[in-house]
Amino acid sequence: MLFLSLEHQILLVVVLIFSSYLFTNALLLRHQPASLRAFGFIFILPLILTIIAFFTATYQWESASRLMVLGHLFLILLCTLVLLLPDKSKAIKVFYLLPFVMLITALSLSSSPLYQTGYHILCCLAFGLVLIQCALIFHYVIQGNKPKMLLHIGLFMLSTGQGVWLWLQEPTLETVLIMAVGYVLCTSYVHKNALGALYKDYRANKETLDRMNASIHAEVLRRVEEIERSNRKLLEISKTDSMTGLYVKSEVIRTLESLLERTPRGNLSVLMFDIDKFKQINDNLGHQIGDRCIRTVANLAKTSFRNDDIVGRFGGDEFIVLLPGTSPAKAYLIAERFRQLVQCKSSPQFTVSIGIASYPEDAGSSGLLIEAADKALYMSKQKGRNQITLYSSRQTKE
Ligand code: GH3
Ligand code: MG
Repeated sequence: MLFLSLEHQILLVVVLIFSSYLFTNALLLRHQPASLRAFGFIFILPLILTIIAFFTATYQWESASRLMVLGHLFLILLCTLVLLLPDKSKAIKVFYLLPFVMLITALSLSSSPLYQTGYHILCCLAFGLVLIQCALIFHYVIQGNKPKMLLHIGLFMLSTGQGVWLWLQEPTLETVLIMAVGYVLCTSYVHKNALGALYKDYRANKETLDRMNASIHAEVLRRVEEIERSNRKLLEISKTDSMTGLYVKSEVIRTLESLLERTPRGNLSVLMFDIDKFKQINDNLGHQIGDRCIRTVANLAKTSFRNDDIVGRFGGDEFIVLLPGTSPAKAYLIAERFRQLVQCKSSPQFTVSIGIASYPEDAGSSGLLIEAADKALYMSKQKGRNQITLYSSRQTKE
């Protein structure tokens, strides 16, 4: 099997590597230019012929060598023709059949006396192919089409190597090396334009996809933030009274419960106050003025208590203030200051009655604490209004 020369054997390796790559590339990659695919497919011709040559070399040395020569001459001829066709040409399909026709022709010619007779014709064919490649190289140099120029340099090297081989009647190391370079140039062209182009497309698409993903992700994050913001706003709105902007009863109770839970050993006082004879204001001055009085007392409460204090509207004209860390005595002073403030600043003038209950002195839970403050407020009302009552001492102040 390995009785051909070293040059033949080197060429066998070159043909096996590059032709099989080009052929499988043509078979597997559907998405490539039609002429490029047919171009790769034609490489089945030297591949099969070279393999046959090596299997038959033991007993048919001369015809085996001829098979390699014919295989390459026909290869260059078919490749040149297919490259001349436009990519959409229907004739390209013929080039899937022609390699097999050429295969049979080469097999018949190699062992026939006709080979010797037509030897000069084959020499002319090789020479003609070299000239055609030169012309095409020149054409693509003028066009500035570097890839095509390199491809035809590859075919030029293949035809030159083959021409010299034919002329000398045997391959030399130089001719084989020239042909190997020809194979490399042809393979590199196909690789760049088929697999390479696909990979380039894939990279470009992946980059676009990544960019789209990133912008979708950013948009999703933006929307989620927007929704969260509007949810927080809605939650805040649901916690506050629309007329005064103060916390609603349920929110004050929830805050009171959590304050007692967080600091069970701390002090806390609850102030409940109610506008005195508010019905009269409504009846005498109208509900709009009544509303204004409610807003006035709410604004005074907002400005006069500390930032840590929680002010809420308990319902109607009744309000509640949580004073964390505040003893009953201190709560009393705060309440007194507020009572005077309302009396001075309200217009039309009105007063408030206040009840104070403190934790832990008066009650141990939120419910009982509110109840105690409410009772103290009730006592302030009973004692003539505009009063402050401490639930523990039931003291009053006018
Ligand atoms: P007292 O001194 O005992 O508290 O007498 P009062 O007249 O203020 O009696 P009460 O607190 O029970 O009356 C509350 C009144 O407040 C009853 C209701 O018509 C009125 N009211 C409740 N909410 C509003 C409101 O949002 N706007 C107005 N204008 N009036 C309200
Ligand atoms: Mg009232």
